[in-house]
This record gives sequence, structure tokens and C-alpha cells, in this order.
Amino acid sequence: MVQQEKNTVYERTKCIQERIVNACIRLGRPVESVILLPVTKTCLIANTLQTLKNLGLARFGESRTKEIFRKSQELSKLQLEWVMIGHVQRNKVKHIGKQITEIQSVDDLGLAYALDNYLKLKNRIIKILVQVKTSNEENKHGIPSEQLIPFLENLSKNCSSLRVEGLMTIAEHTLNLNDRRICFEKLYALSEYANTQNIPGINLDRLSMGMSDDFEIAIAEGSTEVRIGRAIFSN
Ligand SMILES: *Cc1c(COP(=O)(O)O)cnc(C)c1O
Repeated sequence: MVQQEKNTVYERTKCIQERIVNACIRLGRPVESVILLPVTKTCLIANTLQTLKNLGLARFGESRTKEIFRKSQELSKLQLEWVMIGHVQRNKVKHIGKQITEIQSVDDLGLAYALDNYLKLKNRIIKILVQVKTSNEENKHGIPSEQLIPFLENLSKNCSSLRVEGLMTIAEHTLNLNDRRICFEKLYALSEYANTQNIPGINLDRLSMGMSDDFEIAIAEGSTEVRIGRAIFSN
């Protein structure tokens, strides 16, 4: 039973990897220009991640720090890297343990300052992506696009422990794929614009966008990293 489940996760992951490569080839993009970030929040059995490690994947996304703590403890032998992709509360920054090498969901200055202070105390530097709200949905996290430049200027001036490498977004939750594409186009255009502003120390060359249902569209719009959960871990 366990073996069988492993096999399906293995096969689904291989299938996603192939679809990413094929999308790149179709679009004339180098195949290594898009990374797969498996999102393990629905994968309850930590051991399953050994299967992904066998496919060369050792960096995983999670939306809760508690889950990262639990899985990394269970899998301490595997040397995995954890990427926080969910909302982080300002008063929870001390839960950003060493196993978390990156946060893709920074969307608030108070949070950025709290993180920076905490990391300075620990003498650590962490990679971050700034999460931008590209849809009109009320309940989505992310900074509004018109606030991006002042936000980046602030990080550049005040947060030397945060290494800003790019932007992240979650597309509008809709079956209309064209509306999702518009979200990805917006993020790409924003990163291009921000890069013309010469903000010291900030070069946005990573775009984390695209999930199980829309990652090929995101790749067509310039994604460099797709976050895939259900297509790998759900039956
Ligand atoms: C859960 C989650 C994903 C993965 O979504 P799927 O639709 O399961 O592929 C990607 N990004 C974020 C921020 C998530 O919370």
C-alpha cells in the first residue's frame, strides 16, 4: 500500500517535471529556467518526501511553520530545504527556524521589519520574495501592485537581512484561465518595471507563479518557479 502510494507520487511528479520541460521547449525557454517547488501541505506522511528526494527534489514549500517543523524533524536525515509560502504573522517570526531558507510570502512592512530584526539577532540572512496581489479578490494576501516600488525601496534601505530575489503571486481563483493569465502578465510586467528603477541591492529575477491548474500558462508568462501541490499529492 505504502509502496503503491509512493509510486503514484513518483509518477505524478515525473509527469509534472515532463510537462514543465515540454512547456519550456514549446516556448523556446531553456528547460532549466523553470523550477518545480513541490508544495507538501496536503502530504501528511513525511516519508513520502523521500520519493521526491529520489527525483532530485530537496526543496519544498509549506504554508505553515508548524508543519515545516514537524516534517523536518521526522526527516532530519534527508537534508531538505523548506520554503515558507503561507501567510506569516508578525508575532510568529521566531518560528522561522534554520530549516526555512526562504519566505515567498512577505507582503507587509511590519512583518519585514520584525523578520529583519529577528534575523539580525540570529546573524542570519534569508531569501525572500515579495507577494503581490494581482487579482481583485478581497481575501487574498499580497501587497497592492501600486505599493510595490515604495515597499522595495523600504526593504532596500532598512532590511539588510532580507535578500529580495523576486516576486510571488497567487492568480485569481477562477475557472477562467484568461483571468489567471492576466494575473501572471501583471506580475511579469511589475518585475520588469521594478528592475528599471535601480533600487540598490534589489534585482527581481525570480517569479514564483503557477499552481496545479495553471502552471503552463504561468510558464508562458515568464514564471521561473511553479508551486505544485494537488497535482502531485492528491489522488
Ligand atoms: C497550496 C498552495 C499552492 C499549491 O496549490 P495546488 O493548487 O495544490 O497546486 C501554491 N501556492 C500557495 C501559496 C499555496 O498555499
